[in-house]
Amino acid sequence: MLRGINRLNKLYSVKYSTAAAPAPNTNPDIFYTGLFINNEWVKSSDGKTFKTENPATGQVIAEVQQGGKADVDKAVKAAKDAFRLGSPWRTMDASHRGYLINKLADLAERDRTYLASLETLDNGKPFLASYYGDVASLIKNLRYYAGWADKNHGKTLPIDGKYFAYTRHEPVGVCGQIIPWNFPLLMASWKLGPALATGNTVILKPAEQTPLTALYLAQLVKEAGFPEGVVNVVPGFGDAGAALVDHKDVDKIAFTGSTEVGKLIQRGAAGSVKRITLELGGKSPNIVLADCDLQHAVRQSHLALFYNMGQCCCAGSRTFVEDKIYDQFIEMSAELAKKRVLGDPFDPKTEQGPQIDAEQQAKILQLIESGRRQGARLVTGGQASPRAGYFVEPTVFADVRDEMDIATVEIFGPVQQILKFSSLEEVVQRANDTEYGLAAAVFSQDVDRINYVIQGLRAGTVWVNDYNVFGNQVPFGGFKQSGLGRENGPYGITNYTEVKAVVTRLTDKNS
Ligand code: NAP
Ligand code: MG
Repeated sequence: MLRGINRLNKLYSVKYSTAAAPAPNTNPDIFYTGLFINNEWVKSSDGKTFKTENPATGQVIAEVQQGGKADVDKAVKAAKDAFRLGSPWRTMDASHRGYLINKLADLAERDRTYLASLETLDNGKPFLASYYGDVASLIKNLRYYAGWADKNHGKTLPIDGKYFAYTRHEPVGVCGQIIPWNFPLLMASWKLGPALATGNTVILKPAEQTPLTALYLAQLVKEAGFPEGVVNVVPGFGDAGAALVDHKDVDKIAFTGSTEVGKLIQRGAAGSVKRITLELGGKSPNIVLADCDLQHAVRQSHLALFYNMGQCCCAGSRTFVEDKIYDQFIEMSAELAKKRVLGDPFDPKTEQGPQIDAEQQAKILQLIESGRRQGARLVTGGQASPRAGYFVEPTVFADVRDEMDIATVEIFGPVQQILKFSSLEEVVQRANDTEYGLAAAVFSQDVDRINYVIQGLRAGTVWVNDYNVFGNQVPFGGFKQSGLGRENGPYGITNYTEVKAVVTRLTDKNS
């Protein structure tokens, strides 16, 4: 087993625990398909349902209740009631909130194999990635934020005059949280952890492609003992997101997804000046300098793009390579891509599962076609795999130019773009020449060149000699059109807190 984990560490560039992975449950029971409101399972008001499918086969897994506006209204009412002054949640000791979040993490750990299996079934990601990546990170994230619950305090302030001034860090209120399909459980924890630690109440809306794990997590919320209405989960399809944004009693929206929908949310939120945090798209530059450790840089650049089937907001989707090593880099990258193992996500040998759905597969194939048409050199891949399900061959393009669609549009698929550069000034300028600014990386062994690049890049994260390294303690979010606000670490707490200033006049007796 240890050999398997070492292989996985290499594959995913993540340090996994050395505990043995269990066999997946390839046919997990589906227990929950309803709307979770007030700690109860209910049906949609208009009786509508939608199908969620297994992207590895295209087969329907389950019919899920489809929350619409009327259901969002009910969930918001539940969350508002749970937030009223004097409610069990508002009067609970902060440390007990932390206890409940820890309990939720413990329950997720108890059911880790089931959760990882369900995630793989509904999303298509390899089971070992679900188990060692997504579910492990969910548990760690919840525990990190459980610790914050009784540590988010204000300050006393040396105001002029006979006054006592201090700040209170209070919850924002009712939070609508709209999460994407690429990391369903992990994104649920990034949203729930800081919101619950700071005492907010929540309506979580999972993506229509992957509702099942968020629904199971809802049952664990109930089992952990959260009061009713604190966490509500409402799957929707086409209008639930907008209903949350439009609702007058929702105080904040947190969204992870496309920049296009992010803009709609920002516009919608303006009506009631809702707080918003947005984690949006990217076209992240990965800059490889000639003095790097070449083999390491090639491997990391491969993972930077191909991890999670290329469905990462921070994917290193513009690989800039210095001219002196350009040809060699392309050859080595193509070798790696050709070796990438596509297949059944439950098979431990599989490195790449399917794309999330037929729509995403079609979008990726169209962009590949545009790359060919616009004159990029297709080095390997370039088409759908003949398997059932929504697989796309690992694809590498060389000689990509900045103005091509494949160099500007977020592909969100297993398609690597390699671009040539010849000076540091040039590459920093080209790297920044995008509406996005989520992440970036630089590979080099020269500290001065590395520092020049770090300082010049306009991105929320810069990785040096690595890629896709996340920590619960480390903020994540975008510059420019990649988003607003930060998740993770203390920054995540700030985004779920209002600051109340209190100034009390002192009488002479007290002065
Ligand atoms: P999307 O456009 O990012 O977002 C779909 C989600 O947004 C659904 O939950 C939807 O809920 C909600 N939504 C849609 N319109 C809304 C509105 N006006 N107000 C509030 N919420 C609204 O996802 P997609 O269509 O599946 O993917 C499109 C592209 O997004 C991908 O190709 C990829 O480039 C990008 N993406 C990025 C990330 C990321 O991690 N940053 C993740 C996934 C996708 P309802 O259906 O209930 O309205
Ligand atoms: Mg699905």
